[in-house]
Amino acid sequence: FHDATATDGWMRRFAESAHATETRLTALDQRVGDGDFGTNLTAGADAALRRLDQLSDGDTDPAAPLEAAATAFLDEVGGTSGPLFGLLLQSLAAAVTGSGPTTAAYAEGVTDGLAAIRRVGDAAPGDKTLVDALTPAAEVLRATPAGTPPDQALAAAADAAWEGVRSTARLRARMGRSSYLGERAEGIPDPGAVGVGLLFASAQGVVT
Ligand code: ADP
Ligand code: MG
Ligand code: MG
Repeated sequence: FHDATATDGWMRRFAESAHATETRLTALDQRVGDGDFGTNLTAGADAALRRLDQLSDGDTDPAAPLEAAATAFLDEVGGTSGPLFGLLLQSLAAAVTGSGPTTAAYAEGVTDGLAAIRRVGDAAPGDKTLVDALTPAAEVLRATPAGTPPDQALAAAADAAWEGVRSTARLRARMGRSSYLGERAEGIPDPGAVGVGLLFASAQGVVT
């Protein structure tokens, strides 16, 4: 057992979740986008798995699996979501490099990742994007006492993200492809937001 086990397990679980939900994510993106979100997320997941497998067994740096996944999403995934998930994972890796795999680091990483995503994508809360799942997750993490075990903090972030996902179903999109649909996208949750929910939910039982 070593420090990198938790973040390695988190990223592997995320890859499993992406595959398990691929068809449903594709169906969602068929209704509000161009139908490739499931493919884009699993492509990132598989690229991340390849890079995780290349990490040496002796690598105990807990940031390394997050950095590996970040590079995979940034360098190997097309679509809008690939680089955005890459930025989030990169910010998580940077925060964990600074303070270890702690609740405070996850709060900082998600906050910084959200800021980077908003700088690049220019979406605000309420625009029906993954920002609507990430914003409440970041708020919950920042409000979590530093002594809280990371698995509990990330579980609370997942709950907040799912609440954000539900909120996107009530919204018309203002950014991304679903903005072209106007009211026709109402009632359908944003696929990228679901992906963010999956990311936090994947920490369950792996990050301790
Ligand atoms: P594409 O639209 O290029 O096919 P994907 O299907 O990979 O991209 O990802 C779609 C998701 O990307 C959307 O569901 C939404 O959550 C997210 N997204 C799109 N545009 C933006 C943006 N400007 N800012 C933040 N997230 C965005
Ligand atoms: Mg798409
Ligand atoms: Mg596309």
